[in-house]
Amino acid sequence: MGFVSVSSASASGSFQVPYACVRCGFSTAAMVQAQGHATSLDYAQIEQLAHEAAYRRACAVVSAVPCPRCGGESRAFAELYAAWSRRARARRHLRLALGIAGAIMIAGSSAGCALCYDSLEESAPGVGLWAGLWTVLLIPILVILGPDPTPRLASNPHVYFPEAA
Ligand SMILES: [Zn+2]
Repeated sequence: MGFVSVSSASASGSFQVPYACVRCGFSTAAMVQAQGHATSLDYAQIEQLAHEAAYRRACAVVSAVPCPRCGGESRAFAELYAAWSRRARARRHLRLALGIAGAIMIAGSSAGCALCYDSLEESAPGVGLWAGLWTVLLIPILVILGPDPTPRLASNPHVYFPEAA
């Protein structure tokens, strides 16, 4: 008989995160305070996980800060942004393909459905309901596949650049 216990821990610390500007080439180790939180079934690892979460948070904060010399973006931010736009483009193609496939499927099956009736007037309510149902199902799928929020630069007063002064 054992108990399953979920451990959680918080860690905070001061981290040194490498920073490099893509515009002017300024590079340094930025200092930042960050907090992290972790929840796990593995008690032995919980402190380590919380510490890693804090470090990831520190990196995220530092990467979004504009360059202290020229206001440009950091290399980490540029990479994040490139990954974001690749993902957004792939999703746009997927949305388009699904939208076209969905529209063809709805139009085709509605036309097939209309053939089951003797006259156009008789078929209208059934076909309308059929097409409407599928349209209502298709639209949320296309909305869910929308792009993630655009990454933005955000200056942060807690990030310290030792060589920028
Ligand atoms: Zn710069």
